[in-house]
Amino acid sequence: MTTVFKKIIDGELPADKVFENDRILAFKDINPVAPIHILIIPKKEIPDIQSLSEEDLDLMKEIVSVAQVLAKRFDIAEGYRLLTNNGPLSGQIVPHLHFHLIGGRQLGAMA
Ligand code: 5GP
Repeated sequence: MTTVFKKIIDGELPADKVFENDRILAFKDINPVAPIHILIIPKKEIPDIQSLSEEDLDLMKEIVSVAQVLAKRFDIAEGYRLLTNNGPLSGQIVPHLHFHLIGGRQLGAMA
């Protein structure tokens, strides 16, 4: 299934990119819920965290590392949320694994 995120990876849709290497892409969420709202995604098409295989686990390490770097760069290192939705019941809309890096204001309780 071709998702909007795959189109962003392939350059078919624009995005405000803040990090990119061969494996990982990060860009600003089009509908931010906080002053800083960045999506960090693997370029590999993995639908969600439940679909991760053993061989993909290094990508998770790299995503966490990118989140740390971006949190510093965007000055939210003292308080942010890094979250992923898994499946429709969680509210996941785009079936391409992505982590929301959210901060820049006092965040509320988890829902
Ligand atoms: P989900 O609910 O799947 O965890 O979150 C998907 C996120 O992707 C939402 O926060 C939504 O605003 C964002 N999003 C959806 N389409 C686009 C797009 O075309 N560009 C960007 N930058 N973000 C998008």
